[in-house]
Amino acid sequence: MTNAEKGKNQPKRSEIAEAVRELADSAVKKADVTCRAARLRVAAGRLYRRLNRQYRELGIAVYRLCRHDVGDAEEIAAKTVQIDETIHRLKTVEQRINEVLGLISCPVCGSLNKIKDPCCTNCGTLLAVTDSETEENETDYNTF
Ligand SMILES: [Zn+2]
Repeated sequence: MTNAEKGKNQPKRSEIAEAVRELADSAVKKADVTCRAARLRVAAGRLYRRLNRQYRELGIAVYRLCRHDVGDAEEIAAKTVQIDETIHRLKTVEQRINEVLGLISCPVCGSLNKIKDPCCTNCGTLLAVTDSETEENETDYNTF
């Protein structure tokens, strides 16, 4: 067998180089997704701690009002508005985490599905994705 015959069934160097490049690109993309999801999880953790603190402060305010008649209903109403804002931000961050990971939450049962699934794998609900939901937006992690 000549050297030319030996090399006939083996991939060319350029094919190997291309395959290695594709693998490297794929690894970079996966690392980017992991990194973006991790940053968002840190932001979500911050919001959970803030929510915890806000609930505690609300509880103290309610207790003081009931027990000692200190404070007022307006203060308590303001604290509940703050809690609602934090919950809204938290939901936004959780939704972004799912988007970054290519997941979508079923509007009926809440199960996570792959973003390309036409229907929920748990309950069968049609998962319609609008154009605005598929757009890639850069997230400013410091706004959460
Ligand atoms: Zn479902």
